Amino acid sequence: MADTRAELIAAARALQPAGLNKGTAGNVSVRDGDGFLITPTGLPYDTLVPDDIPRMALDGTYAGRRQPSSEWRFHRDLYASRPKVGAVLHAHSPFAVSIACLRLEIPPFHYMIARFGGDTIRCAEYAIFGSQELSTAAMRAMQDRQGCLLANHGLLVAGHDLAEAFALAVELEELCEQYWRACQLGQPVLLTPGEMRGVLERFRGYGQP
Ligand SMILES: [Zn+2]
Repeated sequence: MADTRAELIAAARALQPAGLNKGTAGNVSVRDGDGFLITPTGLPYDTLVPDDIPRMALDGTYAGRRQPSSEWRFHRDLYASRPKVGAVLHAHSPFAVSIACLRLEIPPFHYMIARFGGDTIRCAEYAIFGSQELSTAAMRAMQDRQGCLLANHGLLVAGHDLAEAFALAVELEELCEQYWRACQLGQPVLLTPGEMRGVLERFRGYGQP
């Protein structure tokens, strides 16, 4: 248990050097039995110790000396609805925020879009931070996907474990930057539905067994 809390703290501390966050914005969680551990609200990550990490049940109650992140609802809703999700990460990374402020769905301008499960990365409708409405909008945007943007806010990813969630966040921020750069030069040429189907099929058979 202490090890899982230490892993969560390490992931939270790695956000800033990876260019995914500044200050205390953003939050990370990891599944823990029938609940999950989540970063606390408003505490700088570099001062966190394992006892600062609250444990939440899927009914929204928590145990611990610190309050959970105000965005616990979309973490909870992902764990409750997707048995395979083992870690969730939310960040205010600069390129994802920029695209999310235009409320753009990222089209298949690059084949790595398929890494997130489909031929687009959706942008969830705007709702105020910390609300159930935001979580509900995020769940819609996450349908059949491992990542989405949140309008005028940031990014959200769900992985099998902390390492995958972190890698997906880095990849999504990278795709947002690449899309932004490509759009500076003109209108990116999009991959066709057939081309994206081929990529999705290849991804399904990709990786170590
Ligand atoms: Zn946020």
